[in-house]
Amino acid sequence: ESYLTRLKLTEPHLKSFLHVSDQVLNEAQSLDHQIERNENIGPLAGVLVGVKDNICTMDMPSTAGSKVLENYRPPFDATAVKRFKELGAIVVGKTNLDEFGMGSTTEASAFQVTANPWDVSRVPGGSSGGSAAAVSAGQCVVSLGSDTGGSVRQPASFCGVVGLKPTYGRVSRYGLMAYASSLDVIGCFGSSVADAGILLTAISGYDRLDATSSKREVPDYTSQFISTELLDSKPLKGLKIGLIRETLDNGVDIGIKSAVLGAVSHLEELGCTLSEVSLPSFSLGLPAYYILASSESSSNLSRYDGVRYGNQATADELNALYGDSRATGFGPEVKMRILMGTYGLSAGYYDAYYKRAQQVRTLIQKSFKTALDEYDILISPAAPSAAYKIGEKKNDPLAMYAGDIMTVNVNLAGLPALVLPCGFVEGGAAGLPVGLQMIGAAFDEEKLLRVGHIFE
Ligand code: GLN
Repeated sequence: ESYLTRLKLTEPHLKSFLHVSDQVLNEAQSLDHQIERNENIGPLAGVLVGVKDNICTMDMPSTAGSKVLENYRPPFDATAVKRFKELGAIVVGKTNLDEFGMGSTTEASAFQVTANPWDVSRVPGGSSGGSAAAVSAGQCVVSLGSDTGGSVRQPASFCGVVGLKPTYGRVSRYGLMAYASSLDVIGCFGSSVADAGILLTAISGYDRLDATSSKREVPDYTSQFISTELLDSKPLKGLKIGLIRETLDNGVDIGIKSAVLGAVSHLEELGCTLSEVSLPSFSLGLPAYYILASSESSSNLSRYDGVRYGNQATADELNALYGDSRATGFGPEVKMRILMGTYGLSAGYYDAYYKRAQQVRTLIQKSFKTALDEYDILISPAAPSAAYKIGEKKNDPLAMYAGDIMTVNVNLAGLPALVLPCGFVEGGAAGLPVGLQMIGAAFDEEKLLRVGHIFE
């Protein structure tokens, strides 16, 4: 009840939800009845979870922030949702996002603009801005987002919460509406590293409904969360941390740089050894990402043809039905991505764009591998700036894309990364949060969570 009250009070200012469930109290009451009957309730009983609206939830709208899916109610739950529900957690509602996850501010939602709880004149980040704002404002306990190029980590940084992007394949993508299938992962938001880790434990693991999900055993990530009082004064002794040089170059706000350097000295106090490490192909990540993500999206989004789901235009001829349904259903950012992606994949341009971007992707994977053979964890800012004003970059897509520089490389390499608050810069009434990004080796979420927990 207290969460629902808080939601009601804050939602008119924030608009983080596209849909709020009317079943939350009923579901909580049925857990109470189970307790009265001495029945076992799951370990997450009663935990309220916000779910990004590009993740399918049974009997609830799932629109991906797009008019093309307005009123669509999937007949099934995404595997991640099904898993946390089985442990007793409750879906509180569906959170706002940039249409199909394409954007960095949540302004590209077809339905509403979400505000940043730290300063409502600013963006919450994106594309999972609704999920980040909801946790930040205490509208739910934890939330799910999706991260194709930073959509969990950058909004976590802008909203001052913890965001966890798992290794590609750690969490099933079944029921996540595809944006760029080789990059998409479902990730977790929490107000602490432990909360995000508990949610990860709940949703991870092999799923026969997603051929790219990994069969590796899922460790109990929660075993990392020992009381920090039990640790000695140098609990991270021996841990080697590499600070990615290219991420502190020009283009990063001075306040962000000093917050990250502050985090570096804190890590040193905890016993880590720190050195700078260079990833020479780092700056190539941005163009490669935007070519690959747009190419994959142009193919994935061809399923929205007005016949099978959602928005259907009236037309007396099949091609006109497809064309009109897509023309009226998709927003401008999505159309631009489909055009860019189709161009990049077309005969005559394929070698110059798509193929070349794939080669860059291999280079990036290799340079991360070399660095992570030497260092336990790599660190960087989560974004080059703190949250900016609503509208500031809306009409300048290149400036908005440039803000993804810190995060896209990690998706191209398929690695896990954790973002957690590490300080503030000036702005708003009380300062704006800054996020630190920690990048680990594939399937080494355990180490990220342990270090993150001790750090915070
Ligand atoms: N901002 C990036 C994009 O627009 C990343 C989005 C995401 O991770 N879904 O593609």
